[in-house]
Amino acid sequence: MTIYQNLIGGEWVGANATKNINPSDTNEVVGLYADGSAEDTRNAIAAAKAAFPAWSRSGIWERHVILKKAGDEIMARKDELGALLAREEGKTLPEAIGETIRASQIFEFFAGEALRLAGETIPSVRPNIGVEITRDPLGVIGIITPWNFPIAIPAWKIAPALCYGNTIVFKPAELVPACSWAIVDILNRAGLPKGVLNLVMGKGSVVGQAMLDSPDVAGITFTGSTGTGKRVAAASIEHNRKFQLEMGGKNPMVVLDDADLNVAVEAAANSGFFSTGQRCTASSRLIVTEGIHDKFVAALTAKLETLVVDNALKSGTHIGPVVDERQLKTDTDYIEIGKKEGAKLAFGGELITRDTPGFYLQPTLFTEATNQMRISREEIFGPVVSVIRVKDYEEALATANDTPFGLSSGIATTSLKHATHFKRNAEAGMVMVNLPTAGVDFHVPFGGRKGSSYGPREQGKYAAEFYTTVKTSYTLA
Ligand code: NDP
Repeated sequence: MTIYQNLIGGEWVGANATKNINPSDTNEVVGLYADGSAEDTRNAIAAAKAAFPAWSRSGIWERHVILKKAGDEIMARKDELGALLAREEGKTLPEAIGETIRASQIFEFFAGEALRLAGETIPSVRPNIGVEITRDPLGVIGIITPWNFPIAIPAWKIAPALCYGNTIVFKPAELVPACSWAIVDILNRAGLPKGVLNLVMGKGSVVGQAMLDSPDVAGITFTGSTGTGKRVAAASIEHNRKFQLEMGGKNPMVVLDDADLNVAVEAAANSGFFSTGQRCTASSRLIVTEGIHDKFVAALTAKLETLVVDNALKSGTHIGPVVDERQLKTDTDYIEIGKKEGAKLAFGGELITRDTPGFYLQPTLFTEATNQMRISREEIFGPVVSVIRVKDYEEALATANDTPFGLSSGIATTSLKHATHFKRNAEAGMVMVNLPTAGVDFHVPFGGRKGSSYGPREQGKYAAEFYTTVKTSYTLA
């Protein structure tokens, strides 16, 4: 089998490899992908550092053309790349193709942004002096990504880093190297100069750690778990380096008595269970007022009955497998914890067997949960959702905000008063009214508060806050 190698200084290198396994069919090896070392990482950082002076001064048209070309190729190959994504991560084929289209759109967006780099010219408070405010790129950016969005998250970090003139060392999650390899190959062929984009696949504890330890990495953008995020933060402070963290969530969705039942059930089923619940923006706490509680639980349970859990590539599958054995164990451990804590298992909770061997778990719904239970406080990151019954809107809002996280927060209501109050008072980076907590646009800011995020927002124009540093220049006329 071919080894998909790392790209370091414009050369494909690496003889050691690990297997990329399909979670829908564990007999299938998606491919062999390079297992980089700390030395590979240091070489990649050196290559990125050497490439920075020229790339940071490259013309905006050159950046535009490369980003646009990459976006166009991703779109043209959306079905093939979507199938690759579904095979390595396990989300359903339509979800995976949707994510691939998203990656293409992100490249298109930043291809446009490259042509819109602007500064400000303002008068000085002193006579005969002009002041210019411009944005410079940071230097070498370390990109560390998680497994749950194998093409979209790399895209929303790589595209702005290149757009604003940075060079990159990119380390994807070990579980999902295939889509990362594909987009690096696409960008490399689109004409990026050697060393501008370096790919080092391998273990977080080796490759990721070597990035954290390097004084030559000027900025790290990280998406992943809270635990690893804390390590990135500590190491970055040590090196006086800029960093940005997107971490977990325990996103609430409030359902009020006056909600449209269909809207509420569709939003809860989508954001709780689609993508196998493996989204940082998934709703894992459904906070439901007394008057609608029983009707809502009955309708949601009926909806769950209709959802098909099966091989991600099979037509008709609504929910693919859990990503791997370790995450499956986490999910089933939390199901046991929920039962012991006294929540009522209203649906699912069992492993399922399908035609192909994979990590299949029923969508799982707990009712009679409290907000103090571990299943309501800790991120599970699987298709496991709890319903918390509350008296009224005030208790619902307080419960929604009573969490260490603050990524996305939703409400289902037909009351303008409550929707408006919720948007103002939800302690989250993103608020959704009558929509799933997951599912966001690519041209507006993405990110959270409290334990969910640290540093500037990602995506849209706000991405410039992380990938550039501001310079103020004074000139005597
Ligand atoms: P991890 O934190 O385990 O891994 C994230 C990345 O960090 C991986 O590439 C991993 O490599 C790497 N890594 C691991 N150890 C180190 C280290 N010592 N130094 C540097 N890098 C390291 O998270 P998961 O991949 O398990 O992703 C799931 C988590 O991500 C969930 O908690 C989820 O909520 C969060 N997430 C947050 C999002 C957001 O935007 N807020 C979006 C998506 C996910 P390796 O794969 O080799 O272990």
